[in-house]
Amino acid sequence: MPSYTAPIKDVQFLLHDVLDVSHNDIPGYDELEADFTGAVLEEAGKVASEVLAPLNPVGDVEGCKLENGLVSTPTGFKDAFEVMKEGGWTGLDCDPVYGGQGMPYVLNTAVGEIFSGANQAFTMYQGLTHGAYSAIHAHGSDEQKAKFLPKMVTCEWTGTMNLTESHCGTDLGLMRTKAVPQDDGSYKITGEKIFISAGDHDLSENTIHLVLAKIPGGPEGIKGVSLFIVPKYIVKDDGSLGDANGVSVGSIEEKMGIHGNATCVMVYNDSTGYLLGQEHKGMRAMFTMMNEARIGVGMQGLAQAEVAYQNAVIYAKDRLQGRAVTGVENPDGPADPIIVHPDVRRNLMDQKSFVEGGRAFLLWSANLIDRSVRAGDKEADGLVSLMTPVVKGFLTDKGFDMTVQAQQVFGGHGYIEEHGMSQFVRDARITQIYEGANGVQALDLVGRKLAQDGGKHVMAFFDMVKTFIKENAEDEALKADFLEPLKQASKDLQAAGMYFMQNGMTNPNNALSGSYDFMHLFGHTCLGLMWARMAKAANAALANGASDTVFYETKLATGRYYMARQLPATGMHLARIQTGADTVMALDAEAF
Ligand SMILES: Cc1cc2nc3c(=O)[nH]c(=O)nc-3n(C[C@H](O)[C@H](O)[C@H](O)COP(=O)(O)OP(=O)(O)OC[C@H]3O[C@@H](n4cnc5c(N)ncnc54)[C@H](O)[C@@H]3O)c2cc1C
Repeated sequence: MPSYTAPIKDVQFLLHDVLDVSHNDIPGYDELEADFTGAVLEEAGKVASEVLAPLNPVGDVEGCKLENGLVSTPTGFKDAFEVMKEGGWTGLDCDPVYGGQGMPYVLNTAVGEIFSGANQAFTMYQGLTHGAYSAIHAHGSDEQKAKFLPKMVTCEWTGTMNLTESHCGTDLGLMRTKAVPQDDGSYKITGEKIFISAGDHDLSENTIHLVLAKIPGGPEGIKGVSLFIVPKYIVKDDGSLGDANGVSVGSIEEKMGIHGNATCVMVYNDSTGYLLGQEHKGMRAMFTMMNEARIGVGMQGLAQAEVAYQNAVIYAKDRLQGRAVTGVENPDGPADPIIVHPDVRRNLMDQKSFVEGGRAFLLWSANLIDRSVRAGDKEADGLVSLMTPVVKGFLTDKGFDMTVQAQQVFGGHGYIEEHGMSQFVRDARITQIYEGANGVQALDLVGRKLAQDGGKHVMAFFDMVKTFIKENAEDEALKADFLEPLKQASKDLQAAGMYFMQNGMTNPNNALSGSYDFMHLFGHTCLGLMWARMAKAANAALANGASDTVFYETKLATGRYYMARQLPATGMHLARIQTGADTVMALDAEAF
């Protein structure tokens, strides 16, 4: 059975050596002293390793079942959910007014990675609830907040997000679900939603569905979409549960991975719904929580890469095959462990340098969200909005790739189910698809975010890289290994942006044919910046006499690997982008 150990030391390094969180000028951050975050992470790590990880293969094998209209989760999920509730993990960063603990998002993200790494399918039940909580918190009336949020913070009631219908996924303007206004101010919701994560289950007393629907007579397309709160059971004025609300499960989807999460077809039949926010402004309400939701999915991709990597390392040290070309390393055994072979090393270094760089990118982005939400910093808001499709698209694409590479370390034993590597690959795969498929993230980045506010945010990113390079220009320990490669990556990114400006206006296909490469070019550049910052922090710790020299030396060596072996991908992405749309669009559709 695979194992999971929370990467506490690495998270602590990022929070304190790199982001220096307890000295950030952000409300609530003064609590984030190293002792405190260390204790929270230790506790989360215990729950992850001892409770959630053992249930991961159980969920994969058993899946969820629909019997007599009721969905049941795999064996052990109910008890584990109680552990999450009792430990207060469900409301870690929620508003204390509604019973939450009010911790910053950056800490919640670090903890979220730990739970997701141990069991993605299980953690989604509370993740979806958190998404619905955030939407109600941002857009609900005082009455709605008081009625729904306290029980959602504790996960006594869980939440879902209902956007997708069979004929509309990316293009939500095609939606058919209807919301008919009633005399009492409520609406009657009728329609069918598909692929609804945590749509129904036996972990909570009630499910608070957030449903996108169209009010008849409203504007056409996406501008006519509104958002509604539709509880599975009506909540009476005194807070107790009333009648069933015409919400049923059509079926559970059979799928490739995350079997422990019930992905449901949800049927709404004259169900009572309450408008959340304004009529026809449903997408705006959704968008306010999109940054968090997409960063959350990027986090899932990273988390699967981390757990797959951990297990690949254990196997590579244990599996004996062949001898090291430079001389026998295990003379008492029949062969050397495969970790001696340079190609296995290359594979493990790819994984290690990605997960550590990706984690820095993730927590840095979460820190930007805190800056924006808690400190009202408009620049941080613009920057994180620009970065969100990169966090989602790059971390999930690379996260999936790394689970495949980790599986490769096991040879044929990775392909059969015994070692659990196939589950990591299958579970990671969905992160590239849901919450906006990655091609659509790239479209959002190039088609919308780059030019947002006159290109101000991307310029702020370039300035940040430039300033870092300038401020550290005399640092010999950083210069050749970190600053020069970062400078080149940033140049490639700017050249790609320039290409879009010069060629995208005349033919938009020139920009959109390069959007996916641009997302990856941007992702690599961000990880390059993160590695340069981590190297600076590691050098500083060593210079200050840190006792754990191995940790910091290892960090530096891993960073050098990323800069030398991964970052040059920016040149390839730029070269592809600069060929424009000609070869991409050369064939007529009939030629395929
Ligand atoms: C396991 C699972 C769980 C899910 N959970 C939820 C949930 O909880 N709630 C919910 O509402 N939905 C959920 N979804 C739905 C998911 O968000 C959608 O599947 C996803 O947004 C893509 O929509 P689609 O499948 O209709 O693909 P389509 O929109 O049909 O897209 C198909 C392909 O075309 C590409 N494409 C589409 N339009 C464009 C364009 N304009 N430019 C370039 N490329 C484009 C896409 O990138 C994609 O690769 C879930 C899906 C799955 C499989």
